[in-house]
Amino acid sequence: MSADYYETLGVSREASTDEIRKAYRRLARKYHPDRNPDDPGAEEKFKEVREAHDVLKDEQKRAAYDRFGHAGVNGMGGAGGGGGHAGFGDINDIFGDIFGDIFGGGGRRRQQRTRRGQDLRYTLELDLEEAVAGIEKEIRLPTLGECETCNGTGSTSGKLDICSTCGGQGQVRMQQGFFSVQQTCPACHGSGRTIKDPCGDCNGSGQVRETRTLQVRIPPGVDTGDRIRLSGEGAAGTQGGQAGDLYVDIQVRPHPLFERDGDDLFCEVPITITTAALGGQLKVPTLDGSVLLRIPAETQSGKLFRLRGKGVKSVRSRSAGDLLCRVMVETPVNLTREQKELLEQLQDTMGEQSAQNPQSTGWTDKVKRFFDRMGL
Ligand SMILES: [Zn+2]
Ligand SMILES: [Zn+2]
Repeated sequence: MSADYYETLGVSREASTDEIRKAYRRLARKYHPDRNPDDPGAEEKFKEVREAHDVLKDEQKRAAYDRFGHAGVNGMGGAGGGGGHAGFGDINDIFGDIFGDIFGGGGRRRQQRTRRGQDLRYTLELDLEEAVAGIEKEIRLPTLGECETCNGTGSTSGKLDICSTCGGQGQVRMQQGFFSVQQTCPACHGSGRTIKDPCGDCNGSGQVRETRTLQVRIPPGVDTGDRIRLSGEGAAGTQGGQAGDLYVDIQVRPHPLFERDGDDLFCEVPITITTAALGGQLKVPTLDGSVLLRIPAETQSGKLFRLRGKGVKSVRSRSAGDLLCRVMVETPVNLTREQKELLEQLQDTMGEQSAQNPQSTGWTDKVKRFFDRMGL
């Protein structure tokens, strides 16, 4: 079989003279006998490339070749002196090498037959209490498992034939204009094998859809964004391939009382105007029951109290954080007439005193400075 000149140079039939010249120069450099002293095949390839170029660079010869093939240019002065490409078989070697150059890979790499199963992700929602204390959870996971009928081979008899489309390589070459492109074989999807008797339970895929129930142990202290990897619990591999991994992403639901920030917990606690003024004790919730918080007299609204060690211990920390309680002084509502009268009496006794309360003082000063600056 004679090698096609266009294929020899790796150019399309529509290639311009410039493209032909460039392809020739690259291949000529590559196969030049001086550069390949140990490769006896190189010299022959070099001659092929030169011959193809001699014909295709010449418009007349190229036209004749296009119409009549090798017969059209025999005796017209090609370097081979009369064609005759017998013995020059594997044009694919050149293309393979071109691809090796372009992609920096080793040319034709054989596709692995076994395929690792996919990694799977599962978002697990937890209550704050569960996340903090740790828990064992049952999760139901839709996944692809190995077909038991055919042991994942996809074949009823367990026998696989070599794919006739790719000859077992798993890859085929397609001519795409300038290039010969290596692609995954469409017939066997790269496995290099075909199944004559596909398994009826998995339609030859070797995998079946299944819902797997898994017990997952959640360590104490996890938080939103933490991820637990369960090795080998992802989708099954095919044809003996390893199973993928399962990643469990933790998502902690909002809590009605507590907000978490790392190891610390925050909560807001309402207190009465009298407790704030006179001081007293306040019951505040923690994750393990309520504790008494001493409120000093004259406590202002918004004051933050820190309860050491009443926060949480994250998976990464050694000691527990704190619970931060913000007290919010509440204005009384639904007052009786008597209560209102008592407040009015209180107001009368306060007089100018209110203006000297810590927050009012600071505020009055700020207002005064502001007006001074504005000249008001
Ligand atoms: Zn194939
Ligand atoms: Zn099967």
